[in-house]
Amino acid sequence: MADANTEHEVIIIGAGVCGIYMLHRMLELDVDAVVLEAGSGPGGTWYWNRYPGARFDSESYTYGYSFDPEILAEWSWSEHFAAQPETLRYLEFVVDKLDLRGHMQFDSRVESARFVDGENRWRVKLTDGRELGCRFLVTAIGMLSAATLPRIPGRETFEGESFHTYYWPKEGVELAGKRVAVIGTGATGVQVIAEIADKVGELTVYQRRPNWCAPLNNGPIDEQEMQRIRASYDEIFARCRETPGSFLHGPDFRVFDEVPESERLAFWNELYAGRGFGVWLGNFRDVLVEEAPNAVYSEFIADRIRERVHDPEVAEKLIPKDHGFGTRRVPLETRYFEAYNRDNVHLVDVNETPIEAITPRGIRTSDGEREFDIIVYATGFDAITGAFDRIEISGTGGQTLAEKWREGPITYLGLATAGFPNLLTLAGPQGASVSSNFPPNIEVGVNWAAELIDYLRGHGLTRVEATTDAEDEWTAEIMESYEGALLTRTRSWFTGYNSNVDGHDKLRYMIYLGGAPAYRKRLNEVVRHGYEGFRLA
Ligand code: NAP
Repeated sequence: MADANTEHEVIIIGAGVCGIYMLHRMLELDVDAVVLEAGSGPGGTWYWNRYPGARFDSESYTYGYSFDPEILAEWSWSEHFAAQPETLRYLEFVVDKLDLRGHMQFDSRVESARFVDGENRWRVKLTDGRELGCRFLVTAIGMLSAATLPRIPGRETFEGESFHTYYWPKEGVELAGKRVAVIGTGATGVQVIAEIADKVGELTVYQRRPNWCAPLNNGPIDEQEMQRIRASYDEIFARCRETPGSFLHGPDFRVFDEVPESERLAFWNELYAGRGFGVWLGNFRDVLVEEAPNAVYSEFIADRIRERVHDPEVAEKLIPKDHGFGTRRVPLETRYFEAYNRDNVHLVDVNETPIEAITPRGIRTSDGEREFDIIVYATGFDAITGAFDRIEISGTGGQTLAEKWREGPITYLGLATAGFPNLLTLAGPQGASVSSNFPPNIEVGVNWAAELIDYLRGHGLTRVEATTDAEDEWTAEIMESYEGALLTRTRSWFTGYNSNVDGHDKLRYMIYLGGAPAYRKRLNEVVRHGYEGFRLA
């Protein structure tokens, strides 16, 4: 239901994890704020991604918000890594508990936002023709919300059902007995494949590059364990505050070379059998930094894949050969590799037999056509900046953000960019939330932005803008942190590559690699020095 009031102090775009908390902070500070959300309900990522198997790889009790003792006391997680329906229910519970719905407008997609210099205000246009105004525009539009389809000829001619995983139909899809194709083997593809392998008739996976996948080792949480978790929330959040990625898992400070081989293997087996991202982030610190130890660890993981996949030829195809373990986002899985031991699951390596076209009946590769009832595109996202590019955001002098960021993002702290006053890019490029467990750092960014808005109001100020010097310095720092990092040697969304988006064929400086504790320290310093790097007026 559209709110008759169109002029606000703050407009927040997006009702996901980030937008929900930002709205709450604004209302707490008695700021007139509204959320505009393209979906028909809150939840963001968890509203859209309804594909079978969708769940997070963060321990549930580190993914929930930490700010409200009542929410922590009242909510129970049923699994160590909750699935999408539960996470969506959790976010709806938070929205209702904090009484936020009245300040959210659903089915409201923002088309453009224009800064009006003389007024120090933004004019925001929606695709339904409505226009709203605000002093501060806050983007909470997600880093993986601009889904990209593969550029394969004939896609629109397919006569069966087809969709991107992000837009998996809300009403569900009948899979029993169906011939299903999945294109893409990133974290999403891996989850869908493992989940539907035993539910469909035939499943054919089209793989371009395999990823280093490792077991999630999920498990249920009963009421007793939930009580123990509740009693230790303080320690859980304290632990997350001290690790670089804000997960429970932080690096082991021993150095690979100094640990005897037998001890090393025992430790790695423990990591492989442990829950969550320990297998990636809990390793000796040099394994993700130095090529030689990384190669040994990669081989250890490759051997686990060889043990789990019966057909040695298929196993070799599922082992990455072009990048080391952990240099792209590690998909965590449940019985993913075992899916390939099933007679109804087939792996097509598109490097050997490239996809030529989608046809009315299926997919044609260089060795012939296979027929399908359903094609699932698990082909990823125009990550981090894509959602910004899809809104025409124009700042001072009419420059658009898409123009400014054409060669890659330029920001100050990942939260602001020069030439776009009163725009706060929460969870935007070059911030810490993008490269870590999302919610804990969302809370940091939101609190910082809320305090800034409160400060400006308290001092009768109507304009805040990052200086070009500050953003040049920040962006240079980000670029420097990429030097020598193993992850810059491989193509993935972390480094800004996407073969389905024009111009995304070279390294982009998308994420902050300095770790969440250093990022928090930096934000605090900026405040202590009177919002250093910002021009306030
Ligand atoms: P992704 O990692 O970018 O994977 C996209 C996949 O599609 C890749 O395998 C890619 O191959 C393939 N692909 C793209 N275009 C293609 C084409 N034209 N032909 C053939 N293959 C093509 O995307 P995603 O799997 O959606 O994951 C994105 C991110 O979302 C993850 O890294 C993660 O951060 C997040 N996510 C999280 C969870 C979780 O928390 N558990 C679950 C799902 C997603 P190439 O590798 O060769 O490019």
